[in-house]
Amino acid sequence: MTRRLAPWFLAALVAALLAAAAAAQVAPAAAPDPGPPGDGGEAQAPPTPGPPVPPTLPAPTTAPVAESSNYDNWFTDEALRVELYHWGGARDDQYLFDRAVREPLWPGMRKVLLDVTGYGKYRFRVQDLASGTTIFSQGFCTLFGEWQATPEALELKQRRTFEESVRFPFPKAPVRLILDRRQDVPGPDGRGSFQEVFRLDLDPASHLVARDPLDDRYPLLTLHESGDPRERIDILILGDGYTAGEMEKYRRDARRFAAVLLGDAAFAPHHGLVNVWGLEAPSRDSGPDEPRKGLFRDTVVGTTFNTFDSERYLTTAHDRALRETAAHVPYDALYILVNTSRYGGGGIYNQWAIFPSDNEYDNYVFLHEFGHSFAGLADEYYDSGTSFDDAFYPAGVEPWEPNISAMLPGRPLKWEKLVAAGTPIPTPDDEAHAAVVGAFEGAGYKAKGLYRPYRDCRMFHKGLVPFCPVCAASFETVIRLYTE
Ligand SMILES: [Zn+2]
Repeated sequence: MTRRLAPWFLAALVAALLAAAAAAQVAPAAAPDPGPPGDGGEAQAPPTPGPPVPPTLPAPTTAPVAESSNYDNWFTDEALRVELYHWGGARDDQYLFDRAVREPLWPGMRKVLLDVTGYGKYRFRVQDLASGTTIFSQGFCTLFGEWQATPEALELKQRRTFEESVRFPFPKAPVRLILDRRQDVPGPDGRGSFQEVFRLDLDPASHLVARDPLDDRYPLLTLHESGDPRERIDILILGDGYTAGEMEKYRRDARRFAAVLLGDAAFAPHHGLVNVWGLEAPSRDSGPDEPRKGLFRDTVVGTTFNTFDSERYLTTAHDRALRETAAHVPYDALYILVNTSRYGGGGIYNQWAIFPSDNEYDNYVFLHEFGHSFAGLADEYYDSGTSFDDAFYPAGVEPWEPNISAMLPGRPLKWEKLVAAGTPIPTPDDEAHAAVVGAFEGAGYKAKGLYRPYRDCRMFHKGLVPFCPVCAASFETVIRLYTE
């Protein structure tokens, strides 16, 4: 199953190489690097508003009014990655531009170019500079956003910098990139209102856009191929902490998890819409960093336990290394498979999901974290030792995630369409209501004031319980966005 680059990717590569011959490149900058807490949670506000929508349709949006329409009017077949530094303290954040990099292929959405979900604490917008038309937008979350909820930020009042990047189709003409962040005050739909935090004008024809040619140093591993990446959801399962001598283990592990993913009810009906890729990128050392044990390893994308000094928060802050490695594969969604038997993980919306290869809970972590990173799902549990509390879900603001709600007065329950008539709201947390969609108090790390839609769910319970109907509907929504 291992093979070199697929023909379509090779063609894109050749095109990129030819174009690169005529272009210069920009020197990369050194990057600071993060540190400490958490689990896989994210941030605040979500999709609520107006008339409820069918569960499989995108929710109404707070995204900018814009007409994008035809992909080919605005974009080439390639992608543009904009590398940034995201820095600040617990209550403020800012961005700095580092560099722009062309990638050989945009494998993502080509029909739905504007975000319609409203998921994410952040969002970026791309405007055609000449006309001001918004031609692409996407919601996302950040590791920085999670760090803001840590004692280091809140109590010690430290300030930090994180590597970040956004990726979108390569524009044909100059564009303006705008980043917005949700505030802790409700907007018209109850979710945190967006405020602009950064803007940058970019000329895609500039020699300052890096055009580093990709090579084929890493063999591509085909785990499941259903068609042209331009028309599929492309999921990359990137290994970290596998040495060259452990590549057979990586292939075995990646195949095992690809089978788990495709066998899950959320993806099983969509085999024909999904590609799953691997990349044989060996690390010098085996396993991730484990700072509390004094173990530091040299790995491809620098995964580490004890992120934010939390025991089981397994992440990477090396976005540059991650994106440069992943750019060898067309990917929409990124999984990082870490060669370890320790329990841990993390998942950040539209960034990555990270999980351990050999833990007894690995199948659970694998899908739970993907719920965060792919479908914008919140943690539904509330009794954990995590210390996010109000920092994640400020009172009076509706979470942006589709599967938890503050049930603010005067607003419809966002999963109302899935609630059967006569269901008591709030819903008693008892056996009689174990299989109904309702509103169960206790969610998003809070025992009071936040509600989850189902008594148990993959986002609630550490076990192989299925995603609840509301979470499953969010998967469905995102899958449709990529493939319609
Ligand atoms: Zn759920």
